[in-house]
Amino acid sequence: MPTPDVLRARLAAVDERIERAGGVGVVVVAVTKGFGRDAIEAAVAAGCERVGENYAQELLTKLPGLVGPRPEIHFIGRLQSRKVRTLVEAVDVWQSIDRASLVDELAVRRPEARMMVQVNVSDEPQKGGCAPGDAAGLVALARDRGLLVQGLMTVGRTGPPEAARSGFRLLRTLADEVGVRHCSMGMSEDLDVAVSEGATMVRVGTSLFGERPPREGSRK
Ligand SMILES: *Cc1c(COP(=O)(O)O)cnc(C)c1O
Repeated sequence: MPTPDVLRARLAAVDERIERAGGVGVVVVAVTKGFGRDAIEAAVAAGCERVGENYAQELLTKLPGLVGPRPEIHFIGRLQSRKVRTLVEAVDVWQSIDRASLVDELAVRRPEARMMVQVNVSDEPQKGGCAPGDAAGLVALARDRGLLVQGLMTVGRTGPPEAARSGFRLLRTLADEVGVRHCSMGMSEDLDVAVSEGATMVRVGTSLFGERPPREGSRK
């Protein structure tokens, strides 16, 4: 785990990339998946107020025993409806809501939850997210159910950063159309492109914590 000083320097480097890409007030979510709770503690110590996690079980084992202030936890991974109930105390912002059944489940288990609709802007089957054409309907459904829709989220097209540009542009357009505050897009590799296309929130793991240890039973 990088020391707090190293982490602060890496955060400053991310901020500098954001600034160079024309971003103002862009929020950084430190993605701690794959690391232990020391990564969450280090992120908080370095001044990060928001942490992103992908895996329900991993998050639930990490949170108890966390030393120091608890950051705002953003859930950014694939989500099964039956996991929502187990996560209600752990998650503050649900970024990966991508279907009506999840909207319904979340509204029942966590009324007025802060959430985002995840959109698959690149039409890659391995990625989560609703089709772009379904985003407005899902946002409307979520609002109707009383959820607080804070933004749209996407994972950019795999490949060189520029390959993600048109998808990021599409997410920005959709976000403006439905009138949400946040456009959560851009990760370590492609955040510069995302910010230049209007990201208001980036999710950064590797650039802060280094390469993740391989995940058992997974290709990621
Ligand atoms: C892992 C992950 C990130 C962070 O990726 P890095 O390339 O390590 O910055 C961001 N968003 C989502 C949805 C992720 O799964």
